[in-house]
Amino acid sequence: MSSERIFLSPPHMSGNELELVKEAFASNYIAPVGPMLTAFEKEFAAYTGIAHCLALASGTAAIHLALKELGVGPGDEVVASTLTFIGSVSPATFLGASLVFVDCDRESWNMDPDLLAELLEQRSTTGKLPKAVVVTDLYGQCADLDKILSICDPHGIPVIADAAEAAGATYKNRAAGKGAYAAVYSFNGNKIITTSGGGLLASEDQRLIDRARFLSTQAREPFPHYEHEEIGFNYRMSNIVAAIGRGQLQVLDDRVKRKREIFDLYRELLSDQPGLSFMPEADYGRANRWLTVMLIDKETYGADPETIRLALEAHNIESRPVWKPMHLQPVFKNTPVVGGAVAEDLFARGLCLPSGTALTDAQLEHIAALIKACRK
Ligand SMILES: *Cc1c(COP(=O)(O)O)cnc(C)c1O
Repeated sequence: MSSERIFLSPPHMSGNELELVKEAFASNYIAPVGPMLTAFEKEFAAYTGIAHCLALASGTAAIHLALKELGVGPGDEVVASTLTFIGSVSPATFLGASLVFVDCDRESWNMDPDLLAELLEQRSTTGKLPKAVVVTDLYGQCADLDKILSICDPHGIPVIADAAEAAGATYKNRAAGKGAYAAVYSFNGNKIITTSGGGLLASEDQRLIDRARFLSTQAREPFPHYEHEEIGFNYRMSNIVAAIGRGQLQVLDDRVKRKREIFDLYRELLSDQPGLSFMPEADYGRANRWLTVMLIDKETYGADPETIRLALEAHNIESRPVWKPMHLQPVFKNTPVVGGAVAEDLFARGLCLPSGTALTDAQLEHIAALIKACRK
């Protein structure tokens, strides 16, 4: 059992991907354009119900392009969730903007709308308004998007939904990200579906997507020679990678189903353990349960998350602390934060458990038994 490493959330191919990659090879579109890319974007648009989709090299690139196109630059402020992954917030710094972080709430572990409202109220009376708000859908659970939009809309501040972890999740029966000005998805190797690496920007605003497409391919003006009036990026997804994405998209709903089963099984197996609890599910949506996240009350359980992590590691099983809040990161030591205590508490008590969709129930039972053995 301990010979083969169990990863946190490894890629899980369906088998169809290889056929599609072969098709892409046969067409000789070994390039960042081609029929697979166009088809992947169309199919993703159909899946999410968001009109315009642009496949890119990463989710980070997608956020970068969205912020850039919103005119974010030096002297501007971008609001973001503190409990998130670095890729959600680094693009604002690429553009020379400053960040302000907002704590999460206990119901969803996502940006607390009340704290966001407080911040915008304060900024509107004493200073300049933030240029954009980036809201993370953490661990595949959507933030309360409509509430956040109702806070941002009166100030005219656009909202970018960072649904990098949330493909396949829903919010009020809409696809994760739908309803925001722009939505971002990631197909990095550890995400619920993967293209090895990749991302996507989606929006109802065709202008945004057209501009982002232009910027993602080196901002080449329509001339026979290479002509540049502005600086762009080399951020497009390749046609080969898009073939993997098409195969993965076909099984996204199956992956969500299995991720949710994994969460339920962990919770069931560990339900008799005092001091253990699991990430709540907000009643407005259906999380994809990308990762099963457990909270450990050290006093009651007699072991802390690190003890459990090391015990699993000793059996060649990967687990990981809850994301370290951005306001605690050395690189953001001078960045303001509204609140922060909830994210700090979740970081201190949280552990992400192996959640790969190819794991068997027997493997999950083995992991649960190892966790139980840590109890003092
Ligand atoms: C993975 C992730 C990103 C970045 O996506 P990449 O494709 O790895 O660049 C951004 N935000 C969140 C919340 C993520 O989990």
